[in-house]
Amino acid sequence: MKNICLVGIGKIAVDQHVPAIAASSDWRLVATVSRAGSVDGVPAYSDFAQMLAERPDISVISLCLPPVPRYDYAAAAIAAGRHVMLEKPPGATLAEVQALAAMAQKAGVTLYTTWHSRMAKGVAPAKAWLADKVITAAHITWKEDVRRWHPGQDWVFALGGMGVFDPGSNALSIMTEILPQPVHLRHADLYFPANRDTPIAADLTWTGNVTGQFDWRQEGPQSWDITVETTAGTLALHDGGARMVIDGGEVTAGADREYPALYDRMAELVKTSASEVDITPMVHVADALTLGKRHIVDAFDF
Ligand code: NAP
Repeated sequence: MKNICLVGIGKIAVDQHVPAIAASSDWRLVATVSRAGSVDGVPAYSDFAQMLAERPDISVISLCLPPVPRYDYAAAAIAAGRHVMLEKPPGATLAEVQALAAMAQKAGVTLYTTWHSRMAKGVAPAKAWLADKVITAAHITWKEDVRRWHPGQDWVFALGGMGVFDPGSNALSIMTEILPQPVHLRHADLYFPANRDTPIAADLTWTGNVTGQFDWRQEGPQSWDITVETTAGTLALHDGGARMVIDGGEVTAGADREYPALYDRMAELVKTSASEVDITPMVHVADALTLGKRHIVDAFDF
């Protein structure tokens, strides 16, 4: 068992990281760092530098902070010789993630840019099924209620928070994993609330007849679906990748273990101090923000 420290005890740390670590035989949660949060029975620090200095027994740091503050923590952890696991999206900019990768390589420690949706149950079988198919079209529908999934989190609408691409990057992480050929963006419409700096909705068109609709204003049923049409049939991923359906027939279903799978992967990586750094989903976000036509829509408040 390895000692691990969780940094940023917010929604995702509590909902997913803490239970995944508790259920794992690879990890022991021995410290947290947060300005306000804590985990029952676990020593809580509010100062990251102090934790690094006082806890040489902790070799692995898992960062659950939003993307903007995450870089400084990751850089400090790597400089202190610790292995680092990053929540998605791995940074506020592409270059800062590349900088962290270079630092980790130089320091001989693991850097793991996690993409939890890639661990959803249907994703690996979808990738395998599509590998030898001719893709004729694909469509992403990612519509959820920001008030439900990011309650009161103003950082998602601040610069670097990426707006609807925060959950949208989950879809992009699946798209970039399962499509046998890469695609690149041709057109984007981005919908910015009048009082915010990041989009609340986006319509994207890529090469290869691939399109995506992302919307954070969805009330009622939530949609996390990807459909891929091929000359040999239609594959659909539902529920964020958990369910795979081919030509209407259910192929995979059942309980997902996205976060436990991320911690299994981190345990493998740290054995050899190997890194896994993939910024491809973020490239599509950056392209959308570069190429996208900006539309102003109704102001949004939580
Ligand atoms: P959150 O609830 O707002 O929690 C973020 C944590 O980081 C809190 O502990 C928070 O404050 C700390 N923090 C925030 N801003 C900080 C700053 N400037 N400096 C230092 N610490 C700061 O956010 P979340 O929903 O957990 O999301 C965190 C990451 O997980 C994001 O990258 C998100 O994309 C990803 N994620 C979220 C979900 C979801 O459903 N919400 C799902 C999957 C992945 P304190 O230090 O005050 O405690």
